[in-house]
Amino acid sequence: MIPLSDTGWQDQSWQEILANSVTTVAELTKLLGIEGLPLDVEVDPAFPLFAPHPYLARIETHNAHDPLLLQILPASLESAEQPGFTVDPLEEQSATFVSGLIRKYQGRVLILAAGACAINCRFCFRRHFPYDQHTLSRDGWQDIVACISRDDSLNEVILSGGDPLVVNDQRLAWVVRQLEVIPHLRRLRIHTRLPIAIPQRVCDSLLQWLAGTSLKTILVIHCNHPQELDDPVLESLQRLRQAGVTLLNQSVLLKNINDDADVLVALSERLFEADVHPYYLHLLDRVRGAAHFYLSETQAIEIHQQAASRLPGYLLPRLVREVPGARAKMPVDGFMI
Ligand code: SF4
Repeated sequence: MIPLSDTGWQDQSWQEILANSVTTVAELTKLLGIEGLPLDVEVDPAFPLFAPHPYLARIETHNAHDPLLLQILPASLESAEQPGFTVDPLEEQSATFVSGLIRKYQGRVLILAAGACAINCRFCFRRHFPYDQHTLSRDGWQDIVACISRDDSLNEVILSGGDPLVVNDQRLAWVVRQLEVIPHLRRLRIHTRLPIAIPQRVCDSLLQWLAGTSLKTILVIHCNHPQELDDPVLESLQRLRQAGVTLLNQSVLLKNINDDADVLVALSERLFEADVHPYYLHLLDRVRGAAHFYLSETQAIEIHQQAASRLPGYLLPRLVREVPGARAKMPVDGFMI
């Protein structure tokens, strides 16, 4: 691991940490002591390297195969021919009916609250999403709120992205104030990897609006490996729990990263110690550039069943995949959703 004292970000705000993220392979390899090792790297300018220091601090130095490193290191395999892997694997662009708003499931609506993230994950199914066509201005937010107000079949709003927590708390608090007066809304769900990437994001101003809203709030962290859960992350998760937020986790099953029952068992155990319920384990969505992370359904079921034999049911995430146009996530091995 990188000694904390070597990087100088500990006293910075989350915005400063985000702004000082590592964006070049040269800087990354130097920091991790892997500049002399043979690495299969090729940067896609449309989806470049981007990783903040708190995440990098959990990577083992001198190890080119570290599971956290492999999630962020742009590989030349990304540009290889990948039949069946597409730029919009979930066909979300056809499900977008107001700019920034996606309706896939009954009773729920998803807002693309941000077009950026605090970390660029190489396996991301939205890595090609045209966020520039869905950037939300204040007027755009108002259109979305009006649209949700008119549809009383909705009871849950999901903030997604990009990562919705890159939006500042002043704007988020304003959005939530607009949403919580809509009588048919009950829940606000936030999908974010920011508490993992930059645990300092769980700051007082975030906790203030989360604790203050009348909506039930659920925060789904996207953690793929137990090594992502260091002490600062665990402390941030505790602060969220103390603010009354329900915490869930969903992971993506990734070749050479967490395709091992030992890793999945350790992840579930560590999540539960932090009061986070392991919720879903997703098959990789077939997005172009990520085929080298893909595991077949048969491989996934075998790993999941090995984990099932060692975990109590409540710690076993449900193995699912998303199917474009389906009204819910599909169970992969017969466990009911
Ligand atoms: S944080 Fe989530 S949305 Fe952002 S790149 Fe990673 S997987 Fe994709």
